[in-house]
Amino acid sequence: MIYFTLRTLCLLFLLVFPTTSMGQEVDWKPTVGEAVGTLQQYLRFNTTNPPGDVTGAADFLQDIFEREGITVKRYEAAPGKINLSARLKGTGDGKPILLLHHMDVVPADASRWDSVDPFGGEIKDGHIWGRGAIDMKGTGVLQLYAFLTLARQKVPLNRDVIFMAVNDEEIGGTMGTRYMLDHHYDELDPEYILDEGGIGSREIFVNGKLVFGISVAEKRALWLRLTARGIAGHGSQPHAQNPNDKLMHALNRLFSQPFPTVPNPVLDALVSRLGPLSPNQFTNAIRQTTVSLTSLRSGVGDPPKANVIPSLAVATLDTRLLPGMDAEAFLVEVKSRLGDEIDVEVIHPASQSVVTPHDTAMFRALSSAITRHHPDATVVPMIIPYGTDSRMFRLRGAKCYGILPLVLSAELIASIHGDAERIPVDQFETGIRIYYESLVEVATR
Ligand SMILES: [Zn+2]
Repeated sequence: MIYFTLRTLCLLFLLVFPTTSMGQEVDWKPTVGEAVGTLQQYLRFNTTNPPGDVTGAADFLQDIFEREGITVKRYEAAPGKINLSARLKGTGDGKPILLLHHMDVVPADASRWDSVDPFGGEIKDGHIWGRGAIDMKGTGVLQLYAFLTLARQKVPLNRDVIFMAVNDEEIGGTMGTRYMLDHHYDELDPEYILDEGGIGSREIFVNGKLVFGISVAEKRALWLRLTARGIAGHGSQPHAQNPNDKLMHALNRLFSQPFPTVPNPVLDALVSRLGPLSPNQFTNAIRQTTVSLTSLRSGVGDPPKANVIPSLAVATLDTRLLPGMDAEAFLVEVKSRLGDEIDVEVIHPASQSVVTPHDTAMFRALSSAITRHHPDATVVPMIIPYGTDSRMFRLRGAKCYGILPLVLSAELIASIHGDAERIPVDQFETGIRIYYESLVEVATR
């Protein structure tokens, strides 16, 4: 007990005054300068997916590690579809911690980017701009410099810390995380994974209150295609077999009442810490199972003829199920509301859901590192409404936490996948340090 207390005090001392037996004092200024330059260069590799060729980005990261004398392993799932890992060895007293990010990015329409090249890596108005600045090259660079600082400080580790960069996340991860899990899981076998998902914000959770949400679970996509069939005819003579009418009435029935729900312990934990959440599209989505009507297709000809009743009408639904929701039962409910005249086809089945517990050493380490740098912050576990690679790792038993440890405005959060993606330079130091201190705490315990 005395040992434990002394050890905890020492650790705190190391974190607050990083002049130590584990190495030189960490001089964060040059580390941060280097990280900023690295992200600028990293953003210049156009890793838009599709096609998602990450060769240049992977070579770039590999060079950085090799300059530090750290061996890199490359896993090429297909030409251009590269995953890579670098490892700091520990004594093996615990299973590894994996820092995970993806090198691929979603497309950017350069004509919509206001005076900035989405692949230019420019600094303007205190931000680094570019597709992937947040999602997820920026996150990867903060992780990278936490990892390199562990190496440079020669921090003695009781478990391996692995840095892994994957491809293909933005189109489902088949060549990235899925490939690594199918072929190389034994080499990784992590206890903890730090991935994307959560964020710090003064706006999206409770307006005016600084909240860091660390994602411990995600909603599951269930995509459906609805087809109504009818009889074609002349628009001048309406009849009862118009597929557009059938589809419209069915959709009205579907959305006329709330969707069934299930207990949501993660949300309960979040609300008990924060009180009522601000009403917005994000907090709406994390509370319940949602259904978005994402496409409607019908008509004869292109552009469709206004005077022809078609024989077919098709819609797609993007359903996002809460963890714990029975996908089969949900589907039965959807079909019964739509009625017999609508064919329902599952075009993307819901995966199983696993919730990572938040009563763990890593969650506590992240929380204390965050509150050390942001004393006014409340740290909560959360569900995210979108998918990340963590969903696959959770099914294999790894404890995954999604967190970019920066405070972002609602506008910056909205820039992810948008036309002005950018990351604030002045938060690089705290971002790297929150990762670094969490790793020191859990990997030297
Ligand atoms: Zn991402």
